[in-house]
Amino acid sequence: MDEKKVAIITGASRGIGRATAVELSAAGYYVIINFNSNEAAATETLKQVHDAGGDGEIIKFDVADSAQTKDGISSIVERHKNIQVLVNNAGINADGLFILLGEEEWNSVIDTTLKGFYNVTKPILREMIKRKCGSIVSVSSVSALMPNRGQTNYAAAKAGLNAASRALSTEVARFGIRVNVVAPGPIETDMIANVPIAITEIKKIIPMARIGKPQEVSRVIRFLCSDDASYITGQVIAINGGMC
Ligand code: NAD
Repeated sequence: MDEKKVAIITGASRGIGRATAVELSAAGYYVIINFNSNEAAATETLKQVHDAGGDGEIIKFDVADSAQTKDGISSIVERHKNIQVLVNNAGINADGLFILLGEEEWNSVIDTTLKGFYNVTKPILREMIKRKCGSIVSVSSVSALMPNRGQTNYAAAKAGLNAASRALSTEVARFGIRVNVVAPGPIETDMIANVPIAITEIKKIIPMARIGKPQEVSRVIRFLCSDDASYITGQVIAINGGMC
């Protein structure tokens, strides 16, 4: 039986997901790098994992698509028996004032985050329950907790992710499975480039007056996945330079 510790990271072709894949591989996990469309970027993540002395593989599926995710997760589960970590990182934003927001902008953001959570977490959880161990970390946002103009869809999705994770943590604690959330503030990735507010304006509302780095999130994820966090479950950990 294949006994290497396995971590699955969704949306790991760039940004926080890529940093998390590299971080978890340095912590000894074989990392499964999920991507939706950009195979070259996912391959670059895998290269960074290899360069750092780790190992892993890439796998394509859209987390919001039930059939694709089912096939993708089945192929992972058939080949890897010791899945210890799941990081639900895939996410999108489509900002705009609610009164102008199209149905597609509403649905795509909610579906990526919440259908994605359901589609990926449920089959992986089944495997974790069999082995009576596991850590699930989902990447939410400061937007779930602090109101922000133009982000009703994103805030609703991320607040739902927080609530779903906390509820799930109470169901699976008895199986030795911990479920936590990280809620980053503004982080230097492609996503922030899509937010229709100038970086200088964003910095004004951050007490530390700077944008965070992906590694400042991935290190907390690595901690939450580790035995050092063995008594932490059902929590939403803010990583936001002091925004409150
Ligand atoms: P990013 O846009 O660089 O990365 C998002 C990743 O998710 C990409 O690799 C993308 O391809 C992937 N993805 C999107 N939809 C997908 C789907 N349907 N299936 C599979 N993969 C999909 O941005 P990021 O900042 O690295 O975002 C990572 C997470 O962090 C997201 O959940 C985001 O909401 C959250 N977040 C980001 C910030 C920030 O300021 N960057 C702040 C708070 C929370």
